[in-house]
Parts: sequence; C-alpha cells; structure tokens
Amino acid sequence: MVMHYSRNKDNREFTLYQLAQLTEEEAWEIFKRCRFGDKERFACPECGAIEKHWYIKTRRQWHCKHCSHRFSVTSGTVFHNRKLSFSKLLWILFAFITGLQGANANELPSDIGITYKTAFLNVGKIREVIFETMDMTPLSGIVHIDCMHICGKPRRSNNRKASDSVLVNNKLRIRKDSIVPDKKTHPEPSNLKKLKNRRIVLALSQLALNNDGSYGSNRTITYVLRKETAEIILPLIKKSVTKESIIMTDSGGAFNKIEPLLGIKHFAVNHSTQYQDEFGVNNNQAESFFSRMRRAEFGSFNGIGRVYLAFYAAEFAFKNDNKTLGIKDKFYSLLSKILGREPSKAFCGYNQGKRLGFEYTYD
Ligand SMILES: [Zn+2]
Repeated sequence: MVMHYSRNKDNREFTLYQLAQLTEEEAWEIFKRCRFGDKERFACPECGAIEKHWYIKTRRQWHCKHCSHRFSVTSGTVFHNRKLSFSKLLWILFAFITGLQGANANELPSDIGITYKTAFLNVGKIREVIFETMDMTPLSGIVHIDCMHICGKPRRSNNRKASDSVLVNNKLRIRKDSIVPDKKTHPEPSNLKKLKNRRIVLALSQLALNNDGSYGSNRTITYVLRKETAEIILPLIKKSVTKESIIMTDSGGAFNKIEPLLGIKHFAVNHSTQYQDEFGVNNNQAESFFSRMRRAEFGSFNGIGRVYLAFYAAEFAFKNDNKTLGIKDKFYSLLSKILGREPSKAFCGYNQGKRLGFEYTYD
C-alpha cells in the first residue's frame, strides 16, 4: 500500500516544536533570509538600488543609501503593516502547510493567543498568494476534469412531512442530495435563498508518475463558476489543456462537446454505474481532490464563504500539487513567495471594514 504523504521522513525533520523554541530574533532572521537571501547587499523596495543599506538595529529597519527610504523585512509585502510578531506569523504559516484538511482559523486563537479575525485574515492572505501565483500554463498528458457544487448548503425544514422522511433518509444515504439540492424537494424559501450562494469549482488535474511508483496528480488548476454549463467550461478547458492531451471526465452534460468543439481526445466514465470502466477510464484524481476539499469544508471550516472560494480552491490545489515535497521545503518556498508579493487585495484594510467587493468567478 502506498504510504500517506504526511508520513514521509521529511515531515519529521522540521516541526512545530522546533518553531516554538525560536526567539523573535531568530524568527526575524528567517524572514530576512527568505526575502533578501544571505547576501549583505540587496535591493531597496522603493528605488531598487542594490546596496549595503544602513541597518537601524533598534527598529529592525534599513535606511536606503540611495533614496533614504526606510524599510523593514515585510515592507511592501503581503505582511506589510503587520501587527503580529514574526514567530506568530511563522506559526500560522506552519499550521497552514501542515493542516491536512486546511488551516483552521478556529484553532489558531488558542494556539497563539490571537483573535479569530486575525487568524482568518492572515491565513486568508496566504491563500490569496497561492491563488495569485497558481501555475496556469496548460496541462498535458492525461487530465482528469470534474466539477463540484459547494457553498449554499440546504437545511432540513423544521416540520417533517411524511414525504420528507424519504428525503431525509435519502440525504443520509445519498450524500449528493444534500450537496446538489433538487428544487422540487427543497421548496423552502430559506433553501432557495441559500441556493443563490451555490458555486461550482472546476478542477483540472494532470496525471503523473510519482517518485514511489504510484500514479497521482502533480498539477491542478481550479476555477470557480456560477453555472455548470458547456459555454463557461469549454473555453476554460481550451486555455488550460494542450491539444495533444487526453481528457477524462464523468458523463456530465457540460463535457459532451469537448472532442467535437475543442479537438482534444476525450473519454467519459458513466458514474451512475461505475467509477472506472474496463478500459481504465476514470476521473478519480479530480474526485479525490474534491473529496479532500469537501472534508475540509465540513470538518475544518464549517462552511466556506463564496467570496473567498477561489482562494480555498487554490489552497487545496497547492496542497495536492506539493504533497510529495517535505514540510521544510514547502515552508521556505511559500514564505519566499509571500515576501515577494505586494500587499493583499482582499484583506488589506479588512479590520477597517474594507471588503473585496467582487468574486473571482466565471459566468
Ligand atoms: Zn532606495
């Protein structure tokens, strides 16, 4: 049996225990190394002059020799104007990377003594970086594609009718009914309102041979859609999959025209009878991606806001794509990526009431 990736030896060599023993100075050193590297000379974020800038030790800031701009290790990055200590930020990043079902902002308050809002904000900023830096170059080889309905989960009505009990039983046995509500079986106005929050995540997973000889996906591209229709989905597939690839999906109606309209070889498996047909056609990589995301939605987040859904999808694509990488490599590469990005669009000014005001969706 293939070992779960979280049990790799790499994952025991860099731990929260070690991280918790770092002093603030050592945590700052990690930030400095990830942003400016080991060299004494680095570029001023304001004017770009590569110099050995004057260091003001008491403020942990540099004074640019060229333009006199003063900057810190987080100036102009996602953690610009940070209030949290460096060691707490590292803790949040570690929790984000190691949480198999997503970083849970409900747990961070008791871990490091911050409010839920601060935890949500900082985890959200990391998610946004991952969303913005997702590798969008077209996938090739065998690509598994599927859609998942998420957000706007219906609730049972307070009054149980005779006909309702069939539905309730169905809900327990057939999970899909609670995930994709039928308008006929959920006529309650509150549930119809909830349906307006319904979004669809489209996932495209590229199949590859893992180091341990197993097959798995090594790259995933995700999109958030408002409707599951061919008009929205086909153009996205066209720009995300090379023409020479082979696409595998379930027999969903939106995928029917992939071969005639896009000219990409397409096989479909009929999920009402089987998960893989006799020729090995399946879309299990996309399905397992969704299964992880669904477990996180119910088990970790207790619901995902549609406004940030694109960020959550990107988080799970990141986890999926980097699963064979050790925690240490993931930790430092993600921190370097964060410190190379500009302040967050979605969460800058969040505490002052500013909100994104739009969704990253296709419709
Ligand atoms: Zn400068």
